[in-house]
Amino acid sequence: MSRVVVLTGGVGGAKLVLGLSRMMPPEDIVAVVNTGDDFVHLGLSISPDIDTLLYTLSGKANTAQGWGRENESWGFLAALRELGGEDWFALGDGDLALHVLRSHALRHGEPLSAIVGRLARAWDIGTTILPMSDHPVATMVDTDEGTLPFQRYFVARRCEPIVKAVRFEGAQAAVPAPGVLEAITDPTNKAVLIAPSNPFLSVDPVLAVPGIREALVQTTVPVVAVSPIIGGEAVKGPTAKLMRELGIAVNHRSIADHYRDVIDGLLVDERDTPIDLPVAHAFADTLMQSLNDRIRVARAAIALADALRA
Ligand code: GDP
Repeated sequence: MSRVVVLTGGVGGAKLVLGLSRMMPPEDIVAVVNTGDDFVHLGLSISPDIDTLLYTLSGKANTAQGWGRENESWGFLAALRELGGEDWFALGDGDLALHVLRSHALRHGEPLSAIVGRLARAWDIGTTILPMSDHPVATMVDTDEGTLPFQRYFVARRCEPIVKAVRFEGAQAAVPAPGVLEAITDPTNKAVLIAPSNPFLSVDPVLAVPGIREALVQTTVPVVAVSPIIGGEAVKGPTAKLMRELGIAVNHRSIADHYRDVIDGLLVDERDTPIDLPVAHAFADTLMQSLNDRIRVARAAIALADALRA
């Protein structure tokens, strides 16, 4: 019983993965990361959630800002603006280096999973970071302003349009990246976790890749999700707004229902007790502000998995 596998999006998920990496050997953690947010911008292939994991686990993330790198310089973006280039997606100089390297390698036929593995090694990251797939999957948001690719909805339009549906283009033709299914179904795992990422925008694309949902159902180890709801609201981001727009009540029950087929347990915030849930659950303070908070939530999720196994 050794490894922990985590399905994750970007910021919210990376907090849990960082907590795990401080309570157990990082080499025993596998993060399966959403790539539905990936897009091509100015000819560069950008993988926002993968990069958030890379920056967070290497200690380079700008945690105050919530995206990008700390101590970033902005010479490229300033020069781009001067020339009238599109600047709605901020690209720092250090960030840019990552996108240039990745784009170059992809163009030479290297799979995304191999590129991410190389970048993680360059930064001494012990945790294995796997994209959900090496095939392109694009999260498309159907809104009252028409269909928007995810980054247009999220960054350019700041999640303001009203969402009618979320679709994952290319998912049906995608296959899980090498190692993803083996990691999820490994019977010697300690647990499989679903991070408190946006269930609809960050975790659903992962579950949409054929084989991943089935692997979660088949795995013999406990699957535990950490709910992204605290005190009847989402901690940040568009989760609550999006749930309301899709006609889904913003509470843990909706999260439990959403993951019903794939989870054995749900970790919910103690602020929301008492509660009636159709799945095994445990309570904890799940707000992750400090590093100690992250470790506490990671421990609580593993403790729930241990209790479920027993
Ligand atoms: P991503 O979906 O992982 O890329 O990350 P976001 O930063 O967009 O956050 C997604 C969801 O994670 C939000 O709906 C938040 O409610 C939830 N979230 C973020 N931070 C925390 C936290 O500290 N605790 C819990 N329980 N949920 C969180």
